Amino acid sequence: MIQRIKGTMDILPNETPLWRHIEGIMREEAEKYGFGEIRTPTFENTELFVRGVGDTTDVVQKEMYTFADREEDRSISLRPEGTASVARAIIENGKYSDPMPLKYYYIISCFRHEKPQAGRSREFYQFGTEMFGSQSPAADATIIALGNSVLKRLGLTNVKLHINSIGCKECRPAYREALVKYFTAHKDGLCDTCKTRLEKNPLRLLDCKSPECKKIAEGAPKTIEHLCEKCNSNFDTLGKALSAMNIDYEVDTNIVRGLDYYTGTVFEFIAEGIGAQSTVCGGGRYDGLVSSLGGPELSGIGFGMGITRLILALRELGLDNVEAARPTVYIASLGERAMVKGLEITERLRAAGKFAECDVVGRSLKAQMKYANKIGAEYTLIIGDSEVDAGKAQLRNMQSGEQTEVSLDSFII
Ligand code: ATP
Ligand code: MG
Repeated sequence: MIQRIKGTMDILPNETPLWRHIEGIMREEAEKYGFGEIRTPTFENTELFVRGVGDTTDVVQKEMYTFADREEDRSISLRPEGTASVARAIIENGKYSDPMPLKYYYIISCFRHEKPQAGRSREFYQFGTEMFGSQSPAADATIIALGNSVLKRLGLTNVKLHINSIGCKECRPAYREALVKYFTAHKDGLCDTCKTRLEKNPLRLLDCKSPECKKIAEGAPKTIEHLCEKCNSNFDTLGKALSAMNIDYEVDTNIVRGLDYYTGTVFEFIAEGIGAQSTVCGGGRYDGLVSSLGGPELSGIGFGMGITRLILALRELGLDNVEAARPTVYIASLGERAMVKGLEITERLRAAGKFAECDVVGRSLKAQMKYANKIGAEYTLIIGDSEVDAGKAQLRNMQSGEQTEVSLDSFII
């Protein structure tokens, strides 16, 4: 028996109504905020992620699905996230000459070789948004408002917004220095990966999952104590805007985000009661990304929202029951002529936009009625030879048991 690969999932037809409900809300909200859908390839040149996500990140160092292309001499990776591909697409398609801002969204699966557990899989699904071409905190506020309104419409009252600012090109160097100084003093207690990160990217140390590093990181200098004037005032304006929009938040200096490209605002929506993998949405500003990939200076901000984690959060609140659609009419038939008549009527109903079903198995009448009940049909129509001859049959309301005679050639509901 061949089994699915560890860390991947089958999403079965009884579960997809919930997924579609969630995805439908995401699409509707994104479009209400003026975001257009973008679709990029599932795999890209590995170099894109090495440069775009950052070669000191866990994602690039340990988690990418990378392989050699069959004929060409090149390395390919399954996308571990969506932002780098969108930035590449903007550059490659010259979208930077469109009116600003560019506002894109996507619902995609991403691939990371992580340890599978509740809320963490190797293929996972993400709703992503990106806004390019604005440095204004109004863009940050709008992106956060979009994430917030998706979560609110889903009914997730157990989710809290945490925000932080990690500074820009201006304030980073001084902060970096303060960090290196602090961590060098605690170097002996760091994990091996962090020891090497210390020189290359000390900010990463704040995001290390090892308990020892976490403990040391608690006492590290905070980014918001080292912000330049502009970052400070942007962060301040963002707070005012969120309050004006009635979005509750707390400043959380521990949030630094796992990818290299972030600058300025970073944020997470964190769900209570769903275990360790509680960040349902993470995002921030990445002003250096597009230029680092060879494009023009184009600032950006966005987020990724993990759909599996949303489902865990919905389940925690008992909001995960979304039922599949039920047929309006089920046509039960007995004998070949009735079966053909049944197919004819079912197709007519479908052409009229109705959800209709008929027997396609050749079951006994009793079994067909049982089936109609099971699938929750609103009405049943029972046809045998005599009904075909008379051109009439009884339409039964399954709830009330009430029957009405209908003409087979003109029946529509
Ligand atoms: P984490 O700290 O939980 O590993 P991350 O910072 O690596 O998250 P991002 O790259 O920002 O995550 O991805 C955005 C969102 O996608 C996360 O907030 C989370 O909801 C979801 N996500 C990330 N990795 C996984 C995964 N392996 N399985 C399921 N969902 C994931
Ligand atoms: Mg991660």
